[in-house]
Amino acid sequence: MTSHLLPAYARVDLAFERGEGVWLVATNGDRYLDFASGVAVNALGHSHPQVVEAITEQAKKTIHVSNLYRIPEGERLAERLCALTFADLVFFANSGAEAMEGVIKMVRKYQSANGHPERYRIITFEGCFHGRTLATLAAAKNKKHLDGFGPPMEGFDQVPMDDIAAVKRAITPETAGILIEPVQGEGGVRPVSPQFAKALRALCDERGLLLAFDEVQTGIGRLGEMFGYQKLGVTPDIMGLAKALGAGFPIGAVLATAEAAKGMTPGTHGSTFGGNPLACAVGNAVLDVVTKPGFLDHVRMMALLFKQRLAEIKDRHPSVIAEVRGEGLLVGLKCQVPNGELIDAFRAEKLLSVAAGDNVARLLPPLIVSETEVADAIARVDRACTAIARAKAAAPKAGAAG
Ligand SMILES: *Cc1c(COP(=O)(O)O)cnc(C)c1O
Repeated sequence: MTSHLLPAYARVDLAFERGEGVWLVATNGDRYLDFASGVAVNALGHSHPQVVEAITEQAKKTIHVSNLYRIPEGERLAERLCALTFADLVFFANSGAEAMEGVIKMVRKYQSANGHPERYRIITFEGCFHGRTLATLAAAKNKKHLDGFGPPMEGFDQVPMDDIAAVKRAITPETAGILIEPVQGEGGVRPVSPQFAKALRALCDERGLLLAFDEVQTGIGRLGEMFGYQKLGVTPDIMGLAKALGAGFPIGAVLATAEAAKGMTPGTHGSTFGGNPLACAVGNAVLDVVTKPGFLDHVRMMALLFKQRLAEIKDRHPSVIAEVRGEGLLVGLKCQVPNGELIDAFRAEKLLSVAAGDNVARLLPPLIVSETEVADAIARVDRACTAIARAKAAAPKAGAAG
């Protein structure tokens, strides 16, 4: 079988034809427990009735209307996002990277609008990920992602996480702001400590810098609060969202205070598809579900249960799992074996997971996961770890005579 898709992804030979809740059904009929959630996108699982209804009902009215006109669905979604957050204003995009491009542009424009066009540099953190566009790649400085794509865009300075002295040293008269993920997702499920986040906020206030959060992966309930910054107890000036905001329908958003957004006047930014009626109708349906009383309590309960059971598995299989980390339902297993091996073993047990940096396997169940489904996943994780531990014990030790 040859494929005409650009081979930019190392795909597994597996395709799904439908999904229902936390389950995905493969084309051969096999049922998989989806703890990948399309990389934190399918927060409401598959075929959620309210999402399906929002898409079908809105598609009968208007799918797309240009931003040359008012879009009531977008006005409503923006108003609701602002009511839920620190923000006064929202710009809609179509993806995480596009949202983060908007965040980066806004940080720079704010300083320029304040009479400091020389302040354009942004401090980012080792292991971060902000997308695959040229600016977001430059921000993350991942050599593997940048290789062969020419000189990276200028204007990003990178420091280690949790090192406030390094952040202070990196600040120059050209610094415009600081950009951070509340939990590094792609980087290996590495949470930022509340103390560090508070120190960054204080530093930004002191030096006239903007604090921007990338909540593309952590936003919309993933960590057990609606947004990661609420869990940290630190309010940013700007925040990027995407992934779960459309629960599978592409939408991204930049949220900002009126002050931080003051440079973004008519004509300064745009997106043809961004914030169209269909995307915003789905965003509103997602908010209808996740803001229901008790929804986040459920996420926190499932997260606690999942983490406790995973800790037991780690204790039972110390040769496979080194550490269970993460916040809410963004969980990482730091592996003692190559993470790909564990992910393959999970898939053999019909459990889907995602790789992350730092040799971590990520488990990101839909936020609607039930106690029974958590228990089911745990049984699969246990069986996969047992299979790996057995294979390891049977294999001759590296370097041993034989
Ligand atoms: C996924 C992700 C992005 C990029 O989102 P895309 O929709 O793939 O462009 C940016 N930042 C973080 C933290 C992400 O997890």
